[in-house]
Amino acid sequence: MSKPDQYNVEVTSNDMKDSNVKYFTTYTYGCQMNHHDSERLAGQLKSIGYEYTESLEEASFILINTCCVRESAEKKIYGKIGELKNLKVSNPNLIIAIAGCMAQKDKEKIFKKAPHIDLIIGTHNVHQLVEVIKEFEESKDHVLAVWDQAERLAPDVPTIRRGKISAWVPIMYGCNNFCTYCIVPYVRGRERSRPLPDIIEEIHQLGLDGFKEITLLGQNVNSYGNDTNEYGDFADLLKAVDQVETIERVRYMTSHPRDINDKVIDTILNSKKICDHFHLPVQSGSDTILKMMNRGYTTDYYRELVRKIRKAIPHASLTTDIIVGFPGETDELFQETLEFLKEIRFDASYTFLYSKRSGTPAAAMADQVPLAVKKERLQKLMDVQNDISLEINQQFTDTAVTVIVEGPSQRDENRLMGRTTTNKIVLWDKQGTEEVGQLANIKITTAQTWILKGDLID
Ligand code: SAM
Ligand code: SF4
Repeated sequence: MSKPDQYNVEVTSNDMKDSNVKYFTTYTYGCQMNHHDSERLAGQLKSIGYEYTESLEEASFILINTCCVRESAEKKIYGKIGELKNLKVSNPNLIIAIAGCMAQKDKEKIFKKAPHIDLIIGTHNVHQLVEVIKEFEESKDHVLAVWDQAERLAPDVPTIRRGKISAWVPIMYGCNNFCTYCIVPYVRGRERSRPLPDIIEEIHQLGLDGFKEITLLGQNVNSYGNDTNEYGDFADLLKAVDQVETIERVRYMTSHPRDINDKVIDTILNSKKICDHFHLPVQSGSDTILKMMNRGYTTDYYRELVRKIRKAIPHASLTTDIIVGFPGETDELFQETLEFLKEIRFDASYTFLYSKRSGTPAAAMADQVPLAVKKERLQKLMDVQNDISLEINQQFTDTAVTVIVEGPSQRDENRLMGRTTTNKIVLWDKQGTEEVGQLANIKITTAQTWILKGDLID
């Protein structure tokens, strides 16, 4: 069962709840861009008087922000939509809205499958929530707000943030790459860069509001500015963000390996605030598969890129995404990916079973790989990666690392969590002197595959 999103707002306790106030709750699936869209949708709800609640039963507005990158996400979401039907029976005034990539793809089909849904809001219509609710209140009928194409730039809307320390800042929307397996360009449209002054102003204000770290978001951040001559390129943007005094750290995602250039690496090397973590999705270690995926680079190109990054910034961490079971992936071609993983030695890999997305070129390719084979390959890949991640993390044992204190760990209130600039998650027993948002030095005592554990030094 998915959990409702948590926002950086006071949640009123039950005995203080005002029965005249309308409450909303949200569930978000998928990538950071979707999570940020939920922040913009939640901000609009708050602007018209809704308060946030974690309770489904209490909510008079439920928003499900959806993903359709893999079939498994869609199945889970349709399951969740089904579960909400009973709530609608017990509370006929409840409004249920579906937003995000699945809304953009399936449009009115969602009403046919689930008539208890009231509003469908596409990825290009996020800023229209208030108008959509007004239309629904007047008509009391289904409202479909799904444009096929985006406006050049959507207007700004009120936003409430999920955290207090780290914030997401979109720098561009859409994707022009059309990797043959991927549905994103179809549901998020073509690349549109946000104006540089708007980005800088938002980051400056986030710093004044107490945020320490920002993550610049885009499907391919390295093509920032390509659609306009006005704002320079991604490296120019990084330079400008590095100058914003109110914040301490800058992250960005996602970089397309084909488009990251020497100017970007050089800018990161010479920056004060840009984190030394490179997330470079390679997707496959086989040149045959990379070509079929339309990724636009070879494994040799990727090797050279990694060599350059490690030469310039030797302590930088490197993570990746890998898809197993792409159509035509034989045992031999999969073996090439395993060998590539062992050669590059990523700090972490996010691994996915290839999922057939109707309408994408790969869905029509011959030699689709059976699910059982995909699962077996995924397990082999994870086993190799887990060993490498552990070995890399063990090198931190008995060393000191610096983190920004983010708050209690999810599992244990008495443990605090922070991340290094290289994006390693660090946990330690709370000493009481730490302050959320401040830097803390931790001596690492235990290394695990995904986390480091240690003791506070100061
Ligand atoms: N734009 C980013 C990039 O190019 O790396 C990532 C966007 S995508 C939402 C995140 C990851 O999902 C991709 O890196 C890819 O590994 C995975 N993905 C996308 N389509 C997929 C599919 N059809 N099946 C399995 N994984 C997929
Ligand atoms: Fe999808 Fe490729 Fe665009 Fe990433 S770069 S969003 S994987 S099409």
